[in-house]
Amino acid sequence: MDNCIFCKIIKGEIPSKKLYEDDKVVIIMDINPVVDGHVLVIPKEHIVDYTEMPDDLLAHISKIAKEYGKELMRKLESKGLTLTVNYGDAQVVKHYHLHLLPDYNIKEVEKTVEEVYEIIK
Ligand code: 5GP
Ligand code: ZN
Repeated sequence: MDNCIFCKIIKGEIPSKKLYEDDKVVIIMDINPVVDGHVLVIPKEHIVDYTEMPDDLLAHISKIAKEYGKELMRKLESKGLTLTVNYGDAQVVKHYHLHLLPDYNIKEVEKTVEEVYEIIK
């Protein structure tokens, strides 16, 4: 896909900090991390979103994310790892990618369930 930023990264037309590569996927550092160690697992093939992903490629990405996620946690001494996939309006780059976010969901709860319920009900 000509005007896709991730296709350009995969072709080497735009620089990236690459961490892993095989025949199907790459793992790169996110350019604008929300946590330290925020990385993206990206298929080499241009596939827009997860609803269009072939099952075998999803399975491969899951396997690689499991293996690399452990390595990421070990290297960063992180206690947790959150995996996210954005879809629809929440997805900015329209080339499927899986976010690996060390410690992202390991935070203090600041409000009671009742307080949150009063805000969001
Ligand atoms: P999403 O599409 O899931 O909302 O998020 C896209 C992600 O891609 C963001 O976290 C953003 O920082 C990252 N990103 C966007 N452009 C680039 C880029 O050129 N290089 C890298 N490494 N990451 C990018
Ligand atoms: Zn693409």
